[in-house]
Amino acid sequence: METLGDLEVHLEGMREYYRGGNTRGAPWRKSQLQGLLRLLEEREAEMFMALEHDLGKHPVEAYRDEIGCAKKSANYALGSLKGWMSTQKAKLPLGAVLTTAEIIPEPLGLVLIISSWNVPIGLSLEPLIGALAAGNAVVLKPSELAPRCSSLLANALPAYLDSKAVKVIEGGPAVSEQLVQQKWDKILFTGSARVGRMVMAAAANHLTPVTLELGGKCPAVLDSLSSSWDREVAIQRILGAKFGACAGQACIAVDYVLVEKRFSSISLELMKVWIGKMFGENPRESRTMARIVNKHHFLRLKTLLEDPNVKASIVHGGSMDENSLFIEPTILLDPPLESDFMQDEIFGPLLPIITLKKIEDSINFINSRPKPLAVYVFTQNDSLQKRMVAETSSGSLTFNDAVIQYLADTLPFGGVGESGMGNYHGKFSFDTFSHHKAVMRRGFLVDFWFRFPPWNDHKLQL
Ligand code: NAD
Repeated sequence: METLGDLEVHLEGMREYYRGGNTRGAPWRKSQLQGLLRLLEEREAEMFMALEHDLGKHPVEAYRDEIGCAKKSANYALGSLKGWMSTQKAKLPLGAVLTTAEIIPEPLGLVLIISSWNVPIGLSLEPLIGALAAGNAVVLKPSELAPRCSSLLANALPAYLDSKAVKVIEGGPAVSEQLVQQKWDKILFTGSARVGRMVMAAAANHLTPVTLELGGKCPAVLDSLSSSWDREVAIQRILGAKFGACAGQACIAVDYVLVEKRFSSISLELMKVWIGKMFGENPRESRTMARIVNKHHFLRLKTLLEDPNVKASIVHGGSMDENSLFIEPTILLDPPLESDFMQDEIFGPLLPIITLKKIEDSINFINSRPKPLAVYVFTQNDSLQKRMVAETSSGSLTFNDAVIQYLADTLPFGGVGESGMGNYHGKFSFDTFSHHKAVMRRGFLVDFWFRFPPWNDHKLQL
């Protein structure tokens, strides 16, 4: 799209196509979901290569977090579509004689999906599945920071989907800014809170509803578990949800660990052991951990670490190689809480452990910061579990595991407060991209005369 004029013409064409009813019926929606499944099947090898090129993501991780996930979601939507699209009867009060009421889900129209670079295929296709299942025309703007994945989506999608209703527009902030200024029926944005604010401000001009999938610092609370088996499992899950989740470049990756002081040295020793098991003696040689996406983010992480007080708290790792954009799995013990490192989302393979006097102090710690996208609590203590549910607020709360909540089609995925607004996945995606229209039907026979003027005192006594 070269000029705003061109863009408007393209979008008007899509709107007309939508208004023609082409995307409404179940057969069209099914054919699009089937097209996505074919794409995921037939272009899998190219997707692996693109993800390896853009992020150094190993195909196993790429399948687990992106391709396999998207297949699961598309299959789930296909199997559920009939039920999701069905009209729901609504109950009415007894007095509503000869009246029926229904809730009918209808598509919103022309929607915009803007995605981020860290899960560049998954976070483009996951919302696309919901938007298509709900019968919308869609423009997808993938992230320019994962260029191979972005161009793969732009080139491949038209061959598998209805190209009159689905378009991929590639580009960076300038293109994206142009896009958000247009009139949409919905915008689903995945990215930073900084850009999320700009998207929301632009959307307000047209009263366009937005779903904002943002980030933040997700804590893992590690209680002093009763058996060494449980401890090992917990440590493995925490490290997997940090270094094994795009090298910590994931919105729901563990950002930092909260642990009781007396339990910190055993936790640290176990972490060192498990980093060795996961990434070998020389992690730089391992293909298992993804690379930092680009030089800008590499230098951002390097700067965070170069704060002398932060650097002094490194207890494991710390080496980095700018040429290969590699940062070793790194653990820090009690870095200063006021440092940028502990104020900003880390989004990289640097894991701070923060020690507390009592594990219950983690509740205040979490509550004194912006509401996270996810909270993970490793504990067998029922009372701590109850308090976490009742006293903290986050997009999701997972006990004794991390990141796994992303896979559940039956759970809403989204943030709260600073970590976002709205949600999607499974039926929640369908609802996010639908309008639930209230439809009431009446006959002409019966009515209550007192509901019509003229008003008088007698009517007030009834
Ligand atoms: P980003 O906000 O820099 O970019 C996201 C998208 O917005 C990109 O497609 C980009 O081209 C576009 N964009 C950039 N500037 C824009 C502007 N001025 N106007 C409109 N669009 C603009 O975020 P990122 O670096 O791609 O992603 C990292 C952030 O995303 C982290 O904070 C992470 O936690 C968050 N994230 C959230 C989720 C989630 O599901 N909640 C998933 C992945 C990443």
